[in-house]
Amino acid sequence: MFAKMMESLRPSPIQEMAELSRRATAAGNDIVDMTLGEPDFPTPSHIGEAAVRAIAEGQTRYTPINGSVRLREAIVEKFWRDNGIRTSMADISVGCGGKQVIYQAFLATLNPGDEVLIPAPYWASYGDIVTMNGGVLKPIGTTPEQGYVMQPESLQAAITSKTKWLVLNSPSNPSGTAYTRTQIESFCEVIRRSANQEFLILADDIYEHILFDGRTFCTLANIAADLAGRILTVNGVSKAYSMTGWRVGFACGPKALIDAMTKIQMQVNSHTSSISQAAAVAALTGPQDEVVRRCAAFQARRDLLLARFSEIEGLRTPTPEGAFYVFPDIRTFIGKRKADGEVIANDVDFATYLLGAGVAVVPGSGFGMPGFMRLSYATSDEKLEQAACRIKAAVERLS
Ligand code: PLP
Repeated sequence: MFAKMMESLRPSPIQEMAELSRRATAAGNDIVDMTLGEPDFPTPSHIGEAAVRAIAEGQTRYTPINGSVRLREAIVEKFWRDNGIRTSMADISVGCGGKQVIYQAFLATLNPGDEVLIPAPYWASYGDIVTMNGGVLKPIGTTPEQGYVMQPESLQAAITSKTKWLVLNSPSNPSGTAYTRTQIESFCEVIRRSANQEFLILADDIYEHILFDGRTFCTLANIAADLAGRILTVNGVSKAYSMTGWRVGFACGPKALIDAMTKIQMQVNSHTSSISQAAAVAALTGPQDEVVRRCAAFQARRDLLLARFSEIEGLRTPTPEGAFYVFPDIRTFIGKRKADGEVIANDVDFATYLLGAGVAVVPGSGFGMPGFMRLSYATSDEKLEQAACRIKAAVERLS
């Protein structure tokens, strides 16, 4: 009955763990769920009010496929204000979340066997989206000792004549790693020197505004104007404005690519909701102080969690520079025995063990890095304290 492609489609490890966590909670267990990647803050009220106004004003009809004029104007302005990227309304794609934009970019460009380079650990969906579109995911390994930062030599070694895309996601889901200007410049040097001058680069900046310790956000299209014809810069309102449910993501890039993505979207869902688009205009053009406040709140939670994790022997957690995830190294616990004598054979066993101890996490293998785990700290201080306390007690029971 099903297409061959379905065989390669795995259930999302994030959704799988979230579902186990929901079931455990429904069965009466007290679980701190740290699986999901969405801010726990509500959408700021002025954004919701703009959506209500849009309904009252009758903004309820089809919009252009690549987004309403007002939204694309706001996006052009956003790319200039925040990123120093000069773009125009014709070079903008708006979709149902960054996910749809990324999906369409790969669908429009990948032929069977084309390779997509992604530093690991990577957002699990990239892998599936690449596979669904006939591409081959080529992870580029990183280490916790180097803060999960891709090394230019590793990038150079990974590029072949089959490379079609390089994906850079900073700050990263799941590691929280954020690239500095110098690091991005070193990647650009490798790209410029490469024998393959055809491949495209996707800069996924969706966590741009959640960046800690006073760091300045940098993105490829701003740093390397000479590569602009090969760069798709993806962003959206989900994470910065707590608007995951509104489904608005966008990108700017070379017109031919944007046009191809628009052609696909026309036959998929036409466009995201006109009401959501009006809300996104309010998010991008309205006051930004809440974004700054929420970033500070995430940083305080990161600090709290890292402080508690430093008290857990064997758990090594590089300091995330942005987003709202930590990605600890749990390899010291692999091979240890639980109280019932059973061995923890891998990161999935470890995550299952922690669920039994009342904390839901996602195993690192879901992000292309077995032996690690991802925890989202988009939750209250009280829950973070509880989670750290439970993890500490659980690993102390291992022998
Ligand atoms: N990119 C990364 C790295 C993400 O983590 C996510 C969501 O989790 C997205 C893109 C897509 O977000 P949305 O489709 O809500 O815009």
